[in-house]
Amino acid sequence: MSKKIGVLALQGDFEAHQRMLNKLSIENIAVRKAEQLEDLNGLIIPGGESTTLIKLLHAFDLADPIKEFYKMGKGFFGTCAGSILLAKEIENSDQFRFGFIDITVERNGYGRQVDSFEDDIHAKEFGKRPIHAIFIRAPKITACGKSVSVLAEKDNSILIAKEKNVLVSTFHPELTDDTRLHSYFIDKCI
Ligand code: GLN
Repeated sequence: MSKKIGVLALQGDFEAHQRMLNKLSIENIAVRKAEQLEDLNGLIIPGGESTTLIKLLHAFDLADPIKEFYKMGKGFFGTCAGSILLAKEIENSDQFRFGFIDITVERNGYGRQVDSFEDDIHAKEFGKRPIHAIFIRAPKITACGKSVSVLAEKDNSILIAKEKNVLVSTFHPELTDDTRLHSYFIDKCI
């Protein structure tokens, strides 16, 4: 059966995720309405600004439909702000989150916009070639539960994590030409 992925398209760099999926010849749509979730196998929550994303999620009445979508066992991939939305805990914050993956995040954990950076990271799961990771006001994943697999970490921060059908990265894989994380999501999470 062919797979179809939605990219939450309320704010942020959703088009870059769609470009990755197109590159992999995976059918995809920009999701702005609950009805659009119906025939999807998974949802990508892109980077952006988590506080803005949360406001828009509620304004577009998407929070409950996305919870239902999760209960149906569908896959989720959150990058940067997307990982904040999927996290169970956010340090020093009671902002809304879905809590689909048992991780604790610290928003802007590396500092402000000027502290954004790029780095080559190593992750066994993705082969020997390093992944070029772009961090933009990225969160730090500071802790995770026992059922979470840590796929990459550096300097005591988790950079890629997975729990069942939920994958997160604190950086932006969609801003490079490297489709390995998107392929992994499609193969392992949906
Ligand atoms: N700092 C942003 C937040 O807290 C995330 C930044 C990003 O997604 N590039 O929501």
